[in-house]
Formats: sequence, structure tokens, C-alpha cells
Amino acid sequence: MKQLRKIAVECKNIGLSYDGGKTEVLKDINLRIEPGEFFALLGPSGSGKSTLLRLIAGFNQHQRGQLLVDGKDITGVPPHARNIGMVFQSYALWPHMTVWDNVAFGLVERRIDKATIKQKVGAVLDLVGLSQYASRRPNQLSGGQQQRVALARTVVIEPQVLLLDEPLSNLDKKLRVQMRQEILSLQRKLGITTVFVTHDQEEAMTTADRMAVMDKGIVQQLGTPAALFDYPCNPFVANFVGTTNLISGEIDDLTGDMLRFRTPGIGEIRLPKHPDARAGKIAISFRPHTIRMTVGDAIRDGAYVWLNGSIEHVEFLGEFTRYRVRVGEAVVTADQSHFSGMAPFPPSAPVRLGIETSQIRYLPL
Ligand code: ADP
Repeated sequence: MKQLRKIAVECKNIGLSYDGGKTEVLKDINLRIEPGEFFALLGPSGSGKSTLLRLIAGFNQHQRGQLLVDGKDITGVPPHARNIGMVFQSYALWPHMTVWDNVAFGLVERRIDKATIKQKVGAVLDLVGLSQYASRRPNQLSGGQQQRVALARTVVIEPQVLLLDEPLSNLDKKLRVQMRQEILSLQRKLGITTVFVTHDQEEAMTTADRMAVMDKGIVQQLGTPAALFDYPCNPFVANFVGTTNLISGEIDDLTGDMLRFRTPGIGEIRLPKHPDARAGKIAISFRPHTIRMTVGDAIRDGAYVWLNGSIEHVEFLGEFTRYRVRVGEAVVTADQSHFSGMAPFPPSAPVRLGIETSQIRYLPL
């Protein structure tokens, strides 16, 4: 199959409500998905991801704003008249049809000539590695193979945009990891602009060129997976993308080179000044893997600020050990890399936690 023409999808000030305006599910959505991009919508259940995806497909209608595909406003265009392909969570394959007929269905419906159908279905089955299964029915295939049929059936019509609604949720963990790579490789071969809905941050981070983190119908942050992980804009994103420690408190002294962060549970922490650290209520966020842990004296290194705590819980995870450490009234999660032969710190041991100050983020509350 040849590369498709790459086109952009743009949401401008989109608002959508159900129940005649009572339940606002999408609030002022603004995003531009670049031509050929693999874009993930990530968020917890109920955040509005599927509503937005179905809106792009034409199954939902927004009351406010514009939806531009390839620069044209397609608001009001019915789903069948949009050249958009969607893969559903359930795959929605025809159980009584063979793999070949399932894949050919959309082309037959469009009254494409037989020779072209033969050529296109053959090419797409080849692309997803299912040529030898063409005469089987869906129930004679594994979950991963059914997923590939659903993808083949969608891309064979050469849609302008490919929409994927939690496409991996019916597969077991190992297959999910394999299939997400397969979907990405198919997307790259075709160059098709793709929007992928998932509540699984690992799935979004490992596939997406960029992603939008959604909560309560609002795009909380938009960017590359690394940018969102390293520079979350608020406590929700810091917590949802990766694991973090969030401590709420107040900055009440910004004189000199250092600032004073007071938190009721821990007390007072002195930290170097930072452009995002403003006086008032604020949360600091630091990732468990950036913490140094020691049982001895604090290491004299200006890069760290040290907290005293005691281990409450130890989880050995193989690659690393995860400790929950009580610091005053707070509990801090600290991950330490594991190498064979290393004994973990014992539960209830007093420890010092070195927080690398360059890794601390200051987030508005
Ligand atoms: P997500 O895909 O992130 O899990 P959804 O887009 O499915 O979230 O749902 C967002 C919100 O919209 C939820 O609170 C859900 O209950 C509500 N919702 C979805 N569909 C309808 C509907 N047809 N009528 C009323 N509310 C709906």
C-alpha cells in the first residue's frame, strides 16, 4: 500500500454538552494534530476522550467551535460522508464473513471495481501479515489477529484520518505491548494522521509523537511524552503521567538565593530559587527515581536537599525497589535501582532522602 496524503485535524474552541446543555463534557478544546502525526488522547475514565474521538468521526455533534480536517470545517457533515476510519474497542468484525470479506466490505460498499478490490485487499492483508488467514472467520483467529483485521478493514478505504478507541484493551498485557508496536509501524508505513484514545499512560507514552492529557473535559496539557513527563503544568498531569511525589505547601520567603517552602506535615524546607516558585500556595513535585537514599550522613552536595524519614514499606520490583518513607506526616515514594547482590534497606530503618533540586517542579494549586 502506498503512503496516504498527510492531513491535519484541528479543534478550535470546541464545546459539547449533553442533556440540552446541562452536562458540559468538552470545554473549549483547542488542539491541532499535525499531518502524519500519531497523537494520543490520554486521561482517566469519564474525562471526555471518547466523546472527542466520536466527534471527529461525526457520531457526536459539538454545539460550539469548529472541527477542521485538512483545513475544511466538517462540522455537520455526517459520519459516512467523512473520510475517516475508526477502529472500535470491540473490533466490530462481521462474524459470518471471512477475513477477506470483512476487509473488502468497505470497498464493496463504495462500489469499487472487482480487480481494484482484489489488489487492495491483497495488499493490506500482506501489510498486516494476514495473507494466509484470508479464508478464516473472526472466531478462528486470536485476539491480536482480530485486531489486525479490524485495522486492515479500516485502512483499506484509505481514510484521511485513523481513529483508534482503546484498541488494545481486550488483549492481554504481552499482546498489548506487541500490538502497540505493530499499530505504530503500520501508521508509519501509511503516514496516516492517527488519534489514539487510551487511559494507559504507558501506551500513550510509548507510541505517541505528542499527546493531550484530558481531565474533566479540559485539555490539561499538550506536548511530547517527554515534555509532559519532565515539565507537567499542574498536579493532575504530574500524577497521571508517570509516578510522582506531590507535597502541598506555601512559599513564604523569597529573599536571598533560597526560598522557604513550608508544609504542615513536614515543616520547613529551604530550596534554591526557581522561576516557577512564587510566593503563596503551591505544590512541589519530584519523581521517585530522582531521589537518593542513604542510611548514613547526608552527602554534602549542593545539588540535593535532605529529608529525614523512616521506611514504612518496601516493594521489590526486580529492576528497582520502591520504598514508602514516612517524613513527618507525609509519605514519600523513593525508587532505588537494583543490582544483583544488593540488599534492600530494611523496613522501619531510619533513612535520609536526597531530593535533587533541579528535578523539583513547582506546580500551581
Ligand atoms: P472517556 O472516554 O474519557 O472515558 P467519555 O467521553 O466516554 O469519557 O465520557 C465523558 C463524560 O460524558 C462522562 O461523564 C460520561 O458519563 C458523559 N457521557 C458520555 N456519553 C453521554 C451521553 N450520551 N449522554 C450523557 N452523558 C454522556
